[in-house]
Amino acid sequence: MGQSPDPDVLRKPVQYLKGVGPRRALALERLGIRTLGDLLLHIPRDWQDRTRPTDLAGPLQDPVVVARGRVTRAEHFQAGPRMAIYKASLATAYGSLPVLWFKHGSRRYDVFAPLKRDVVRGRDLWVVGRSEPGLLGAREVHAEEYYLEDDPRAAIHTGRIVPIYALTEGITQRFLRELIFKALGDCAEALREGLPPRLLEQRRLLAFGQALRGVHFPAAMAERDAARSRLAYEELLLLELAWFLKRRQTKGLSKGFSYELKRALLTPYREGLGFELTGAQKRAISEIFDDLRAGSPMTRLLQGDVGSGKTVVALAALLLAVENGYQGAFMAPTEILADQHLSTMKGFLKGLPVRAAMLTSRLRPKEREATLAKVRRGEVDILVGTHALLEEDVDFPRLRLAVIDEQHRFGVRQRATLRQKSSLLDLLIMTATPIPRTLALALYGDLDVSTLDELPPGKTTAKTFHVGEGEALDFLKREAAAGHQAYIVYPIIEESSRLDLQSAKKEFERLRSGPLAGLQMALIHGAMPGKQKTKVMNEFAAGQWQVLVATPVIEVGIDVRNATVMVIQNADRFGMASLHQLRGRIGRGRLASTCFLVAEPKTPEAVKRLETLVSSSDGFRIGEEDLKLRGPGEFMGTAQSGELTLKVANIFRDAALLGQARQDAQKALEGDPRLVAPEHAGLRRRLLELYADQWDWVDLA
Ligand code: ADP
Ligand code: MG
Repeated sequence: MGQSPDPDVLRKPVQYLKGVGPRRALALERLGIRTLGDLLLHIPRDWQDRTRPTDLAGPLQDPVVVARGRVTRAEHFQAGPRMAIYKASLATAYGSLPVLWFKHGSRRYDVFAPLKRDVVRGRDLWVVGRSEPGLLGAREVHAEEYYLEDDPRAAIHTGRIVPIYALTEGITQRFLRELIFKALGDCAEALREGLPPRLLEQRRLLAFGQALRGVHFPAAMAERDAARSRLAYEELLLLELAWFLKRRQTKGLSKGFSYELKRALLTPYREGLGFELTGAQKRAISEIFDDLRAGSPMTRLLQGDVGSGKTVVALAALLLAVENGYQGAFMAPTEILADQHLSTMKGFLKGLPVRAAMLTSRLRPKEREATLAKVRRGEVDILVGTHALLEEDVDFPRLRLAVIDEQHRFGVRQRATLRQKSSLLDLLIMTATPIPRTLALALYGDLDVSTLDELPPGKTTAKTFHVGEGEALDFLKREAAAGHQAYIVYPIIEESSRLDLQSAKKEFERLRSGPLAGLQMALIHGAMPGKQKTKVMNEFAAGQWQVLVATPVIEVGIDVRNATVMVIQNADRFGMASLHQLRGRIGRGRLASTCFLVAEPKTPEAVKRLETLVSSSDGFRIGEEDLKLRGPGEFMGTAQSGELTLKVANIFRDAALLGQARQDAQKALEGDPRLVAPEHAGLRRRLLELYADQWDWVDLA
């Protein structure tokens, strides 16, 4: 590689390195490693201190030991029809140590050929392996790696702190360690600093090259920490810069209309609610109104726990638009929810001269045409529908505001698309999976965020228990006898799949003919025709059914006050946020409500998830735990698209760095809005590399 700094060195494909052929390149790709840059940023998942051999005299801290000594004996034997063992005795500073290698025998070749060559009497070795109690109670080591003292490569793996990497089939620890070691050596000259000198100094950061070397092969654990921090900081700085640029782009647009507070609808609306707005609702409404009255389009996230009153806030925004003679759209993820919103909305709008209508795929062509014609003529003020609303060719002459409910499966990319489609609309996006403010800033950096952190008085979260099915159903029967209603929910992921419908039906039959015989029960499932779903839902709301067996079509939005019990089957198969939302469906009235999580969790994480739900009713805490357990990509539902997959930084552990990065990004852009100053050349280049194609909105032209 060149001697002078080469800006493109990090983008070279890994195949460029000696020892990486097409097969290895393919294996590396499974680890997300395509370029030299990916390779060098493949941060170790752990580090092992092999500076000196493990003290074998005393008790061990760690079952993995490092031994060093001279081979005094070596032999091999067959230990069974398939198992062969190679055994050496090592003279170490702590006495003689038996070291064993286990292999599946092969008739075709000698599995011990390399050992017979290397591990022979008189050779000096390093061995890394597990300490196990041997036959006579003495310690023996089951070797995982060994290195010959006189092999120069031994110094990469021993006598220092060594990196332990995440691996995949076809890639060994030894291979990857040597590859990265060599790549670091080759590139050292060509690696260019990407951060401005001012920041390096001010934040006391290691130089880029040193940080890369230090994160893989640190001279001390302190160097590793400093190296990791530096790389994490850089990653977060780039993310924050991207967010600021994205927001600047939106703020630079001029929507060409504005709203005036006429109060013709808003005042009667507020007076007709029948309750006082919470402080948080008032704050959110005022933030939204400020945006609506500004010159650039609003892109705001309204986050709040289930039941925190987001709909009431959204409706206030829609009414401001309607007061000003404009139209609004209200979009939900499912038709059931859209239905529900329309009926809630109609309740709040009673007596007000506001015309709301619904557009879904299940309207008959004639009805659909009629509704569309009304929208076109401006005879509909608020159109409710599913997320497809903006994609269909609805002719919306005076549409100015779109409210989008439940966006937790909405990634940055979808938001960008939405913004492009509706470039000058005001957008209000709502989520029922709230997270603390600092985290929200990191994850939703392209949005302004309003948070409802206060529940209306009297709103309770269902008492939650983790129990067996029998106990849950006994309780359910007692509540039913007392005149209350219940949900039983099954985790069916593929709503349209036939198989799932069959299993839901089977479960329904099992419950109806067995443990719940005699109760009035109905089944509702995502694969049912929409009309039928609505019918069953309405019948349940009217009290005709005591028990509703459901798939997560009811996950969000359904509001039946007499329902006091929810039994969630196989609860370990739901995400935490989903479980919390589900139980939010009960406990909306004045009645005490109970949620049963029926599950046999199989992993420690699954146990942790259930415990968190049993012990906490705080949506923010649950959102945070969920994000911790799943990571940002999974949490946002965008893992596949690679959005927000931070390689080094962890937004929890690195919260302080995140704050600094945010501050520094803002400052850098204030002084140099297009990042054209020479000191920003590195940042500019990395930004375009990382985000320009990925989110297609980082615009530095
Ligand atoms: P979210 O959409 O955030 O889950 P909703 O807007 O559906 O919450 O409100 C939940 C319930 O609480 C609704 O029945 C609504 O009428 C009621 N509600 C909303 N705000 C208040 C308030 N400030 N005081 C009392 N009840 C409220
Ligand atoms: Mg809601």
